[in-house]
Amino acid sequence: MSIADYIQNPTIRHDWTMAEVQALFNLPFNDLMFYAQSVHRQFFNPNEVQTSTLLSIKTGACPEDCAYCPQSGHYNTGLSKEQLMALEEVLSNAQKAKDTGATRFCMGAAWRSPRGKDFPVVLEMIKGVKALGLETCVTLGMLNDEQAQQLKAAGLDYYNHNLDTSQEYYEKIITTRTYQDRMETLESVRGAGINVCSGGIIGMGEQANDRYGLLMELANMPEHPQSVPINMLVAVAGTPLENVEKLDEIDFVRMIATARIMMPKSYVRLSAGRENMSDETQALCFMAGANSIFYGEKLLTTANPDENHDRILLSRLGIQPEQAASSAPSHATDSASGSAPVSDSFNGVKFTNAAAS
Ligand code: SF4
Repeated sequence: MSIADYIQNPTIRHDWTMAEVQALFNLPFNDLMFYAQSVHRQFFNPNEVQTSTLLSIKTGACPEDCAYCPQSGHYNTGLSKEQLMALEEVLSNAQKAKDTGATRFCMGAAWRSPRGKDFPVVLEMIKGVKALGLETCVTLGMLNDEQAQQLKAAGLDYYNHNLDTSQEYYEKIITTRTYQDRMETLESVRGAGINVCSGGIIGMGEQANDRYGLLMELANMPEHPQSVPINMLVAVAGTPLENVEKLDEIDFVRMIATARIMMPKSYVRLSAGRENMSDETQALCFMAGANSIFYGEKLLTTANPDENHDRILLSRLGIQPEQAASSAPSHATDSASGSAPVSDSFNGVKFTNAAAS
């Protein structure tokens, strides 16, 4: 199958090869953008974004050593540590998020895994946020099957657990838990019937192959994650990555576009790093198929564009916040045909039976 054939009728695939991902990622930019936008329009309204708000419910002193993270207890980033937030405070933040238009409320705790005495409180938070009419999402670290079932029973809609990077580069970023640990947590989440939110970070000094590898791992899971956050590293002073070379923003847009093509029904979230992006780069990301953003001043502990700036940007682009997000993506009515005059080149790589590079 050629790229043009796939674009006309995108199917959910779980057998992507490195050669295919590499060829897609490196298409001429205009062709890549056209293909991504064509796929996007077949499954989503291109002028809507889903909006979530993220709250840190337990901050800092995390025992993990994720090299990008200011919350890791292994690094001195000057972050003030906070205990688990009180239920009432969480619910008041959730109500405020709802009032400002968010449809999903995400709660993040800097834990290796949920702790005994705190876990029941988190379950109450999920129930309370759900009762406000918001979708719920949490990120609490590693889970076992039983914890995942309890979260589901409390009404959890999404669990965030990122792969971060490729299997090969992973050990340069985290040593305190393995890639396999992450895969097992995601298996528990899927097994409990909770939607998976999983993506990664680029700009951590990884090679191009690591970006292709991350996309391949995500798309080749037994189900595509329903939500795929693509983060641009926010280099925080005091972390091992504070002086890493700045990412080429065109590569970031390519990452979004390639994710959109490979996981056509997933929400692709433009996530951390937006604060450092120009409005024009963000506009390219939306054109490449990003259709979800975090809304609010903070992303756990790093800055996010302020709500007013986001409102103005979305208005300049004619993009509306999605009113009620659903786990089943809405279908756009104006699906693009594949007959536009762009090249069908795919560097000789077919979508099936492609040789690994
Ligand atoms: S990314 Fe999460 S698990 Fe890793 S150090 Fe930060 S809070 Fe802990």
